[in-house]
Amino acid sequence: MSIALVVNSGSSSLKYQLLDASTGQMLASGLVERIGEERAVTTHRVGDEKFRSEQPILDHGAAFAVMMGSFLTHGPDINAHSPKVVGHRVVHGGRRFVGPTRIDDQVERDIDDLVPLAPLHNPANLAGIRVARAVFADVPHVAVFDTAFHTSLSDASSLYAIDAETARKHRVRKYGAHGTSHKYVAARAAEYLHRPIEDLKLLVLHIGNGASLCAVEGGRSIETSMGMTPLEGLVMGTRSGDLDPAVLFHLSRQAGLGIDELDTFLNRRSGLLGLTGSNDMRDVESRAEDGDQVARGALDIYIHRLRHYIGAYLALLGGADAIIFTAGVGENSQLVRAESLEGMEWLGIEIDPERNAERSDEERRISTDSSKIEVLVIPTNEELEIARQSFEAIGVEA
Ligand code: ADP
Repeated sequence: MSIALVVNSGSSSLKYQLLDASTGQMLASGLVERIGEERAVTTHRVGDEKFRSEQPILDHGAAFAVMMGSFLTHGPDINAHSPKVVGHRVVHGGRRFVGPTRIDDQVERDIDDLVPLAPLHNPANLAGIRVARAVFADVPHVAVFDTAFHTSLSDASSLYAIDAETARKHRVRKYGAHGTSHKYVAARAAEYLHRPIEDLKLLVLHIGNGASLCAVEGGRSIETSMGMTPLEGLVMGTRSGDLDPAVLFHLSRQAGLGIDELDTFLNRRSGLLGLTGSNDMRDVESRAEDGDQVARGALDIYIHRLRHYIGAYLALLGGADAIIFTAGVGENSQLVRAESLEGMEWLGIEIDPERNAERSDEERRISTDSSKIEVLVIPTNEELEIARQSFEAIGVEA
């Protein structure tokens, strides 16, 4: 068995999964939430069983100890299934990290050097790495970066039209995100289509709470909708996506909002949440179905932005072999899939309404047999991709 422990350490949470990278079989997964609080919540899953507990967890070290305790109490025995590698999700790798990287002290320093570009995420990722390296001291650790897949973007795609010297000095450019998911889904799509990825033009729509598109040509990312940070692009659960930057000047002057308030406003109180009061697409859809005009209006804005990007990316790619939906909304919302591609028969896109309406966790085609561009739904699996890339980085076949 090729067992990996995958760790995703956030500012107040620790997500983990123990899995077999060769088969994709998940042995256990868990989430420690509200780290730093007196009533932190731990959920540990093994098979169909779920164990929940509450206790004070003051830092990531304590969260890791609770995770190890959960393995001990509820299984599986982590010594019997000891991981051969620990894979860490790291949000920002800048331009320095173009692929999965085995972690040593210098890599830790380099991730630390990128903190100004991801001030909330990279410190939390580093906290998880430091604790995990202490606990699993004899096991190799690998960092898998959300940005790595997009280091193939051209300057034309990733440079903003601002003073070049200022941009260079402060490392302002598009880095993108969700790269692990986009890469995984693009590779799965090629397998599904029985075609080499080198020959394919793919448009991947990762639409969850966070959302981004990626144009993939020959297996390389050539354009993506998140920017220097994950705020740019599509309308998301709580993020605004694109807006005129002058909105910030206006709100600062007229509403008296400071920089940190504007950051919170656009990242945490906008998107579907700002428009409707809920960031959950299920709520918004069911309210719209019941005739709620506010919810319907929000969906219209959401879909309009998606269609705008789909058109733009098809132009950049010069057509596509397949459009692929993934993540919470993409995998589950037939409404968003149908409306975002509606009326595009002239482009060679034909959705089959019955296939689109089918509920399934499987990889599937939702376009008609005669559609020139295939439309697929492919469930993402970032943990499996991190596990596989971690084995790749240590030179061991999973
Ligand atoms: P994250 O970006 O946090 O990983 P997910 O990929 O899990 O998010 O996606 C979460 C989103 O998926 C939520 O907005 C949720 O409402 C949406 N979603 C889940 N199931 C459905 C469904 N059946 N119909 C519509 N939206 C759904």
